[in-house]
Amino acid sequence: MRIGSGFDVHAFGAGDHVVLGGVRIPHEQGVLAHSDGDVVIHALCDAIFGALALGDIGTHFPPADERWRGADSRQFLRHAALLMAQHDFKLGNADITVICEAPKIGPHAQAMRERLAADLECGIGRISIKATTTERLGFAGRREGIAAQACVLLERA
Ligand code: MG
Repeated sequence: MRIGSGFDVHAFGAGDHVVLGGVRIPHEQGVLAHSDGDVVIHALCDAIFGALALGDIGTHFPPADERWRGADSRQFLRHAALLMAQHDFKLGNADITVICEAPKIGPHAQAMRERLAADLECGIGRISIKATTTERLGFAGRREGIAAQACVLLERA
């Protein structure tokens, strides 16, 4: 078995929605990002790359590369899934925590789990989405940005 962890942050900016776990969520702000700024998928990809000891998301999808401008982050996740399979691993489970004051994550958690499970070709029961605030402390508490952390366990396929 292998374990991995990932963490990602994007600052809020102008916009009317955020994308989290592949789900478009209406919000009073967007995020500043080269891609779609999906912190859930970015943290999850980094956890998978970490478990495989294959660098990080910036190694595989350099932010300076114009190909990834406005990219749907689900393609990053599908690439991580491909690498996992090529290295003879499958997802045991993933546990993800979104850190923000808003938007509310709970109403969208099931849809996020479904999309992540589809991209990772695993059962939804292997994917956990949780959320927390930081009690109005720090950048998340000041609503300056949104963060996510992910832990994964990989098993031999
Ligand atoms: Mg990111």
